[in-house]
Amino acid sequence: MRWRNWSGLESSYPDVIVHPGDTGSVVAAVDRARTDGTTLKMVGTGHSFTAIGTPGHTMLRPDRLSGIVAVDRHAMTVTALAGTPLHVLNTALERLGLSLHNMGDIADQTLAGAISTGTHGTGGVAAGLSAQVAGLELVTGTGDVLTATPEGNAEVLDLARVGLGALGVLTTITFRVEPLFLLEAHEQPMTWDGALASFDELASANHHFDMYWFPHTDRVLAKQNNRLDAPLDEAEPLARTRAWFDDELLANRVFGLLCAGSNRAPGVIPRMNRMTSRLLTERQYSDVAHRVFTSPRRVVFKEMEYAVPRAAGLDALREARRAIEASDWRISFPVEVRVAPADDVPLSTACQRDTVYLAFHTHRDAEHTGYFAAMERIMRAHDGRPHWGKLHSLGASELAETYPRFGEFLALRDRLDPDRVFANDHLRRLLGD
Ligand SMILES: Cc1cc2nc3c(=O)[nH]c(=O)nc-3n(C[C@H](O)[C@H](O)[C@H](O)COP(=O)(O)OP(=O)(O)OC[C@H]3O[C@@H](n4cnc5c(N)ncnc54)[C@H](O)[C@@H]3O)c2cc1C
Repeated sequence: MRWRNWSGLESSYPDVIVHPGDTGSVVAAVDRARTDGTTLKMVGTGHSFTAIGTPGHTMLRPDRLSGIVAVDRHAMTVTALAGTPLHVLNTALERLGLSLHNMGDIADQTLAGAISTGTHGTGGVAAGLSAQVAGLELVTGTGDVLTATPEGNAEVLDLARVGLGALGVLTTITFRVEPLFLLEAHEQPMTWDGALASFDELASANHHFDMYWFPHTDRVLAKQNNRLDAPLDEAEPLARTRAWFDDELLANRVFGLLCAGSNRAPGVIPRMNRMTSRLLTERQYSDVAHRVFTSPRRVVFKEMEYAVPRAAGLDALREARRAIEASDWRISFPVEVRVAPADDVPLSTACQRDTVYLAFHTHRDAEHTGYFAAMERIMRAHDGRPHWGKLHSLGASELAETYPRFGEFLALRDRLDPDRVFANDHLRRLLGD
């Protein structure tokens, strides 16, 4: 059977496919791979754009490792099986009156896949998903089952929160949670100058702040999400027709058709961007947090995202705009700008520094290499760190320079996976062997 990732950029034909339903089946599969001298990879839903999750010999699928296994209302933690899709966790948490603190902009990924590549949302005070992990269970490359908490195997917990699939197969993950809360969303068009002039203020005044610049235009869509101190039944979600018109029809169907058409006639893209940026008008609504954080993404794209130090973020963005305007590329997708506070997760892109994320996209069928290479040079000049699940060209030596604790990660990998059961070509490039 062929495995293929969401963007269609990566695929492989694993020899053996296993659907483990418990830790014992994962251990058995790892022992077999180790004895036979083959490789094994647990995949998520394939939402990484890179080959980080490409399986070689044996592929473990996550579908039978789904659901909540424990709720601790005193510690305010929830433990779930590692293959649980985020949207399944969100729905189950909502029924329990609980919520994650923050998340990215979709909820299709598995919990393990999301934390393994450092999936993040936006917010000056709310860090990414990996920083919310309070414990985990891992089957190592030697077939051992490790329970990692702050009290036991703390160094494994520390490093495996962004583990790249290189340290073992995660079987359960414990997240810190909080009582279910409402978010109020305010989306508004701005000019480039207005958005950049108020960026610092908007990023610090709002719990979550995100903006999209439409290349070849002066237009920006700014999104501010703030917690509401109000009972849940006071939510004022968008009317169903407005939500369908904006999020389904405009953002997905019409945008998908426009992108497909403009791939054949890229000259229309500047005009198309002016038009689409005008169609997205101001709106305000509130809802349970996960329904505000996430929305469906049906137009398939390719993406590169870099994390640069917060102080360099706007300079990097201005340079990116100058490079786009000096080129003959025609870019149909907006450039997304997000923020995150410094965290303490060793391989998190926000490790030890306040961060601005700059994300560059093209449609699935559009040429991306020249555009991404040029953006990458700019991001690298600002000590940018690439998202582990998105396209980039860095290898072990460059990564070691930007992550102070990279050597510790390599040493833990040597201990937990000495035979490189979990290796693939992409990981060898990232980690040096
Ligand atoms: C439309 C779209 C929107 C996105 N939005 C965001 C966003 O808002 N913010 C953001 O930061 N990223 C975002 N991403 C990137 C995405 O969150 C990451 O690439 C994430 O890793 C995908 O999770 P997955 O379940 O698909 O994992 P996969 O891509 O399948 O795998 C990722 C890695 O996790 C490992 N893995 C999976 N399961 C296990 C396990 N049980 N044990 C150990 N390792 C495991 C895999 O081996 C692989 O190394 C987006 C991607 C797409 C396509």
